[in-house]
Amino acid sequence: MNAIEVNALSYRYADGTEALREISFSVAEGERVGLIGPNGAGKSTLLLHLNGLLPERPAAQPAIRVLDMPVTDPHLLEIRAKVGLLFQDPDDQLFCPTVREDVAFGPQQLGVQEPALTSRVSQALEQVGLRGYEERLPHHLSRGERRRVCLAGLLACDARLLALDEPTSDLDPRGRRELKALLQRLPVAQIIATHDLELVVEICPRVLVLDHGAIVAQGPTETLLNDEALMLAHGLERPHILRHHHPH
Ligand code: ADP
Repeated sequence: MNAIEVNALSYRYADGTEALREISFSVAEGERVGLIGPNGAGKSTLLLHLNGLLPERPAAQPAIRVLDMPVTDPHLLEIRAKVGLLFQDPDDQLFCPTVREDVAFGPQQLGVQEPALTSRVSQALEQVGLRGYEERLPHHLSRGERRRVCLAGLLACDARLLALDEPTSDLDPRGRRELKALLQRLPVAQIIATHDLELVVEICPRVLVLDHGAIVAQGPTETLLNDEALMLAHGLERPHILRHHHPH
């Protein structure tokens, strides 16, 4: 079973912007895949589709399956429980007065009750390096901390697939290192949209390159990111970390 299967997905926003064109790819269970491309390429739009936040155009055959379910109305509740989407802006995701309530919100919706709820919340906070933050106020935290609170909320739901939009932006080097280690430890499938190409080299064996709504390349990260012409053609650049590696 694949964690994600997308087959010829196209999407146009209400104003006519063609944001995705005939996208096809799959992500295996437990696999970590990078999603790269210039601003406006369609990365966020693609991630939003994975838990049905954008209506799919009616089609005889649904273009997306996640965790073996078509992303269609009858499955949306289950899909939203199992697909953890980390938004680019943590402030779009946090809306409770305390960290505890924010992290508890998802599992509560799933019917998790005390005392399991409290232990899930503290475990998830511990996983993201925010042990003991339960009573803190999200709007008093740094942006990097707020992002980690969001991630804790997804972990507390026991998400089986993580769709992460720019997870390392606004993190200081230590925060970034810790997040990287956390993502590496998590055994669930992950699709990571990011401009942080070094992160992709470090933790994603495979990468999808998106430009103008289409997948222009997909394959092994080292091969693609070492392809200077490909990188430059799509507003990217060969990351420094690869310059020390000599191609065999
Ligand atoms: P990325 O995440 O790669 O920067 P996006 O998915 O945000 O790209 O955007 C893809 C395209 O869709 C861009 O041309 C963007 O301007 C457009 N777009 C994004 N959101 C909307 C929206 N709500 N309405 C209309 N167009 C949008």
